[in-house]
Amino acid sequence: MPTAITHSVIGVSAACGFISEKKTLKFWILSILCPILPDADVIGYLWFYIPTYHFFGHRGFFHSLFFAALLSIFIVSVFYRKEAVFSKKRWKYALYFFLITASHGLTDALTNGGRGVALLAPFTNDRYFFPWTPIEVSPLGIKAFLSQRGLTVLINELIWIWTPSFLIVILLKIKRKKQSIRPLIVRMLATINNWNKRSVI
Ligand SMILES: [Zn+2]
Repeated sequence: MPTAITHSVIGVSAACGFISEKKTLKFWILSILCPILPDADVIGYLWFYIPTYHFFGHRGFFHSLFFAALLSIFIVSVFYRKEAVFSKKRWKYALYFFLITASHGLTDALTNGGRGVALLAPFTNDRYFFPWTPIEVSPLGIKAFLSQRGLTVLINELIWIWTPSFLIVILLKIKRKKQSIRPLIVRMLATINNWNKRSVI
């Protein structure tokens, strides 16, 4: 798995790119937590010795797209219940929370170690990797992470996840700024044009 910090970086970047009239504290906290939550199954592995090949093992059901969908439905039902049930806004939030939760399993499938990810659970417990796996797998447990190996993993994640995430956010910001500046430029050009016409008359 990429580290929890890196999974949350994806959530924060997505939150920055999300178009909403008001981003509340609740929204930011959920954006950080949702991409981390699937790794709660590590508790089962470390404390209860649930084997990784088990349905509820690490990278099992909780890493699936189905779980991401269930979690997003739960979140909008609990935290966004004021929005009308089939409103566009509620669907927008549901899709957003689905995507950031699903990003966890998908990025894990890009790692170069461990067991594959049960992306299609509960329909199949088969584990999948993408054909291209550039991300260094992170060691399980804090002690193992606080080592040279942990540092190597962090540098790798900086290259493959942090940098592209920040670049996408910056590009989106530039694009939006351009869009908000464009009507202003059009108005300025129209005013200059009117002045020119008047001075010719
Ligand atoms: Zn994971």
